[in-house]
Amino acid sequence: MTSYTEPFWSALEEGRFLIHGCDGCEEAFFPPSPICPHCHSTDVRWEEASGEGRIHTYTRQHTTAADFEDGIVVGVVELAEGPRLLAGIDARYEALSIDDPVDLEVRRYDQAFDRGRLADSPFYVATVRSE
Ligand SMILES: [Zn+2]
Repeated sequence: MTSYTEPFWSALEEGRFLIHGCDGCEEAFFPPSPICPHCHSTDVRWEEASGEGRIHTYTRQHTTAADFEDGIVVGVVELAEGPRLLAGIDARYEALSIDDPVDLEVRRYDQAFDRGRLADSPFYVATVRSE
């Protein structure tokens, strides 16, 4: 967490997921950055994402680092607003398909590994939405 990303983490504490919108080109993007990756404008603002998206791609980690369970499912989620982000997916690998609808869910984790200053902060995970 930096002073720049503090609004993101504060919103996540409240169950809201913030992305950036750009007033220079009207594109939305994530992760937060003071410079738009599309047009390099610094005229960017925070905006709340719907939390709805679709699975762009996904995989399963067969062997993980110490203190992580094997078989973690992760993927790239494309938000309804456009940005793609890496997220854990709370689903069985065998049950997933590309383009499945998902919701980002804010969740607290009881973790054995060190998240440093973010140890008490929630994180997000994608869950499959039934349409
Ligand atoms: Zn832009």
